[in-house]
Amino acid sequence: MEIFKGTNYVKIFGVKIDKVTMEDANKRLVSYMQGEDLKMVFTPNPEFIMKAQEDADFKAILCQGDLVVPDGIGIIKASKIHHLDLPERVPGIELMEKALEYCNRSKKSLFLFGGKPGVPEAAAKKILEKYPNLVIKGTQDGYFEEKDELRILDKINEAKPDILFVGLGAPKQEKWIYKHRKIINSKVAMGVGGAIDVWAGTSKRAPKIFIKLGMEWLYRLLKQPTRIGRMMILPQFMIKVIFSKTIDG
Ligand code: UDP
Repeated sequence: MEIFKGTNYVKIFGVKIDKVTMEDANKRLVSYMQGEDLKMVFTPNPEFIMKAQEDADFKAILCQGDLVVPDGIGIIKASKIHHLDLPERVPGIELMEKALEYCNRSKKSLFLFGGKPGVPEAAAKKILEKYPNLVIKGTQDGYFEEKDELRILDKINEAKPDILFVGLGAPKQEKWIYKHRKIINSKVAMGVGGAIDVWAGTSKRAPKIFIKLGMEWLYRLLKQPTRIGRMMILPQFMIKVIFSKTIDG
């Protein structure tokens, strides 16, 4: 669609991020689901951006996303510091919820790919309890060997869902989507990280107050102290943001 073309995005340390509000992102997603070709939806947070600094393929793949939303408060803070004009945080898990609402309203279908065995099935059950009008065409856990890839693709392509949620963690999910983008039989493939776990109830999202204060990361750290190594990337990102003359490039 023409209105979505142009340079309405910024780049943060080389990673494209669209200048979208949650409402814009939702509208785009809905239009993609009414289209024909596969569209790739990515949700980078500071951890993605730092990983992309050491992984040129990951950086290039993120830049080729059709819709790349600013997940993570760190991205919005970086945008504010450098006057990049990103309107607001668009958490992937909330965008997924919008997609589920749309699927429910329009009786569209989805496929859940990712999480430990049993997890996507548990998530499917919870999703259907909340959104009984949508169709879950299939589930597949995210622990597979390379030799299983074709079988998994066949399973997805036979199911032909309107939207495919891929929760393999970054960069695995983006690389998987990109590698198969030309043969995935769906309208949208979206990387959703741990969102399938959240739906299954195996991990929880932070209480609203943490989200409102931009402290969701702190909640996750308190719940899962083993994330400390991963979390150290956040201050590293902010230091890089503060000490860089420009980040938009
Ligand atoms: N995962 C998977 N296959 C793998 C590695 C990870 O299905 O080979 C799943 C994992 O079970 C979890 C998700 O990918 O459900 C990644 O979670 P993470 O906490 O990394 O996601 P985040 O939301 O932090 O991006």
